[in-house]
Amino acid sequence: MEAFSPLPAVPDHPALEREILERWEREGTFERLREQNRGGPTFSFMDGPITANNPMGVHHAWGRALKDVFQRYKALRGFDQRYQNGFDCQGLWVEVEVEKALGLNSKREIEDYGLAEFAERCKERVAHFSGVIAEQSKRLGMWMDWANSYFTFSDTNIEYIWHFLKEVDRRGWLFKGLRSTQWCPRCGTSLSQHEQAGEEHYRELEHPSLTVRFPLLGREGEAIAIWTTTPWTLPANVAAAVKPDAEYGRTEAGDWVAVALHPDETFVERKRGEELVGWEYLGPFDDLPAQAGIKHLVIPWDEVALDEGTGVVHIAPGCGAEDFELSRVHDLPVVAPIDESGRMLPGFGDLAGLTTGEVEQPVIESSRQRGLLLEEGRIRHRYPICWRCKTPLVFRVVEDWFISAEGVREPMLAANATVEWTPQQYGKRMDDWLRNMGDWNISRKRYFGLPLPFYECECGQRNVIGSRRELEERAVSGLKELRELHRPWIDEVLIRCEACDREVSRIPEVGDAWLDAGIVPFSTLGWESAERVEGGYASGASSGLSGADLPDHAYWEKWFPADWVSESREQIRLWFYSQCFMAVTLVGSSPYRRVLTYERVRDEIGREMHKSTGNAIEANEAFDRMGADVARWMFCEVVPSQNVNFGYGLADDVKRRLLTLWNSARFLVDYARIEEFTPRYEDLAGGPVDAALQPLDRWLLARVQALVDEAEQAYEAYWTPGVVRSFEAFVDDLSNWYIRRSRRRFYGDDDVAFRTLWYALVQSLRVIAPVMPFLAEHLWENLVGRDSVFLAGWPAVVEPLHDRALLAEMDEVREVAELGRRARDAAGLKLRQPLRRVIVAGSEAAGRWVDEIRDELRVKEVVFDERPDVRASYKPNLPVLGPRLGQELPAVREALARGEAEELGDGRVRAAGHELGPDELIVERHSEPGWAHSERFSVWIDTELDDDLRREGRVLDLIRQLNELRRQAGLELTDRIVVRLPSELADLVERHEDWIKDEVLAVRIEVDGAAGEPAVEKAP
Ligand SMILES: [Zn+2]
Ligand SMILES: [Zn+2]
Repeated sequence: MEAFSPLPAVPDHPALEREILERWEREGTFERLREQNRGGPTFSFMDGPITANNPMGVHHAWGRALKDVFQRYKALRGFDQRYQNGFDCQGLWVEVEVEKALGLNSKREIEDYGLAEFAERCKERVAHFSGVIAEQSKRLGMWMDWANSYFTFSDTNIEYIWHFLKEVDRRGWLFKGLRSTQWCPRCGTSLSQHEQAGEEHYRELEHPSLTVRFPLLGREGEAIAIWTTTPWTLPANVAAAVKPDAEYGRTEAGDWVAVALHPDETFVERKRGEELVGWEYLGPFDDLPAQAGIKHLVIPWDEVALDEGTGVVHIAPGCGAEDFELSRVHDLPVVAPIDESGRMLPGFGDLAGLTTGEVEQPVIESSRQRGLLLEEGRIRHRYPICWRCKTPLVFRVVEDWFISAEGVREPMLAANATVEWTPQQYGKRMDDWLRNMGDWNISRKRYFGLPLPFYECECGQRNVIGSRRELEERAVSGLKELRELHRPWIDEVLIRCEACDREVSRIPEVGDAWLDAGIVPFSTLGWESAERVEGGYASGASSGLSGADLPDHAYWEKWFPADWVSESREQIRLWFYSQCFMAVTLVGSSPYRRVLTYERVRDEIGREMHKSTGNAIEANEAFDRMGADVARWMFCEVVPSQNVNFGYGLADDVKRRLLTLWNSARFLVDYARIEEFTPRYEDLAGGPVDAALQPLDRWLLARVQALVDEAEQAYEAYWTPGVVRSFEAFVDDLSNWYIRRSRRRFYGDDDVAFRTLWYALVQSLRVIAPVMPFLAEHLWENLVGRDSVFLAGWPAVVEPLHDRALLAEMDEVREVAELGRRARDAAGLKLRQPLRRVIVAGSEAAGRWVDEIRDELRVKEVVFDERPDVRASYKPNLPVLGPRLGQELPAVREALARGEAEELGDGRVRAAGHELGPDELIVERHSEPGWAHSERFSVWIDTELDDDLRREGRVLDLIRQLNELRRQAGLELTDRIVVRLPSELADLVERHEDWIKDEVLAVRIEVDGAAGEPAVEKAP
């Protein structure tokens, strides 16, 4: 493409983006950039893995755009980078999607299908969607080393986690515990605290609301009344908890409840909660085998809430986390009512086999029949649902594997104190999470995930395998069939117990997927690896998908910790947490130095996007319809602690704003072609310093330096809204001041103006290229006609051109011009109507820019004057002045009302003999006709019009109309025309023929009166 090819009126973003992508591919631009920066200072970015399970959505695109923006910026600054993308590949999310695709809906069906086949399907899904996401990311403009992405299901990644787990075990942090955990009956597994945290994992659901009485033993006719919304837990009741220091009362019907919750009740007897403790009662389902021999007691619990229910809490340790904790304190039996699919166990009579939902009516009915049901209703409340499959959760007591959080909590807090968070408040959120985090539940009773390397022997020994080599050394069978470290193959490997020599098999559980993602700062960088192994990371399930090497330890030393990571806010409790946990455990420090985190993508009007609501937008569709640059722009301009609203209407708005840049470039291109301007490439580094610059040129050059400086600071602070704001303000100055004020210089061969504008435009392209790579590259190609903008490096601030005083002076001039426009507006005088005179008061700088002000305000004369008397009126600020003046107040008030106020400066005034300060007065400024004021300056325009001025106004209207006709006729900028005018415009031609001809490139003006309307045609 030659430099200065004509640009269309508006850019076709998607089309030019595809062209640029092809060009980058063809010219190997990215590879050359990496080559260019190789050996430079390092910038270590660690990519948080995206789940290769579905196409990427626009919510992923935000984060991926930010990652690309800062990697591109750092590349412009010459940093050597790794560009390794990561895919998350195993665990519940992949399994559930594969189940859906295969039409399987329980663990039984997966096992019938066959674990080996199931694992293959999971791998196929990851292979497919990692490819899809890579293509989408390229389309977004993301430059990554796609051939060497890391896949968390690689054997190498798994081995590194094994190593971590062995270390955790060595420290005594690993334990198997009976815990009451949130359980998904469909997925058949417990879910961890960090997976389930977050508002989106709750839904408003309706459940029964029951008040049930438990008859007291030894207190004839009396009962203790409880309230529950989970009827399925009643058959597992073992205790009833009261608040020891609360007051309880017995109703006339004999039921004990908290007094505070029953204000209208008449009580026949009252006792403190602690007096009820130890009472024994008949359980609601004592006849069930599961309840055999259980003594039901009233127990004390300080946490009993007195805001709903009866003030007595039904305790079923098999069905609730707090209930379970109480069972430990009070040595209560644990009755577990449901199996892993959420169905009632044998031992519950007729209820056995029913789901927790199906059991509701029989339980209610049975309670009613036995006279235990006091009240029955329905309640809507916030209820947890499975983060993966949306099934309502239940609590189950199960044995899970945990890593104790206690030993690592303080070191993690200390590590987080070394991290710089953007925005800052998220660092505190991380601290809060760390202070409150429970033990890490790392086991899932599932199939396609990290195989936990725990081998429990009947001798009591827990064997933990820390590496593949250790597995091979200790294996007694199954090694030959071990294709990769996944189920079912790994389960076939038996090892010898290190204590007793028995053969032991692996526990069936797989690991939490956050172990997979958390280890990557070690596994991908070759921590403790003796040598570099080519393709060594891409082992096991990832062979063939990636060529990633396993580097050696020196490489890890070079790249760890990450200088920067960036993910969305929920990763505080997920990836930021898991990798910090693992890094602090393994090496005692944070795996990242800086974090940029951001909120969520919403639809155009701020609603959550859902496929079901129909407001979700596919990432591909967005890129193809609005353009990736436009999407990136929307992501970059928002403050990351706010949600970004995303949609096509907003995209159109961005496109409109981007047109200012486009039109400025187009202006330069059009006239550069006409005047055959040739840029001087040495200007790219130093600016046109040797040119005979006019004052406005010097201002624009200073403005360029300020832009580079501001953008650099914003990029260094990882603050894209700052970059976007600076750029938009610059482009506005460029277009609406420099070009507008200098337009005429481009109609002639003013090389200095061309050089100045060219330099300003191309420097601004370099600045914005990381945010908007395609449009920047496209325009760079046109204006510079050389290699990629990304190979040109970051523009240096040219200090001699960075004239801050000049920038301040021009701000003043523009403020004056703005006041003049306001004054015209107020007087109803459009800008095309020339005026006689303007008075400027208060601005010294304006005196040095008379021509600009005169042209800008279209006046014949600019007069400078002292600031006029501001015609102000004053009223007393009564709440302040009243107490001070007391009886003197009316006199002061009347003096002010009469306008008898002597202005003393600094806003002080004397009235009726009192000196009044600015805070004691309410000032009303009266704008006299023609005046406009700002804090600093005042401008007055002469609104009187005479015939000459009116005629000139009509000439300007005509010129505008003729130029519009030129445009409509599709004439080239250089085409000469013949103009025909109706006779009523004859007076304009008589007085101003040359002016009109000059402005519209007319060779002749014919006033024939025939047309009725002005007309133009190309001159022969
Ligand atoms: Zn589920
Ligand atoms: Zn043993």
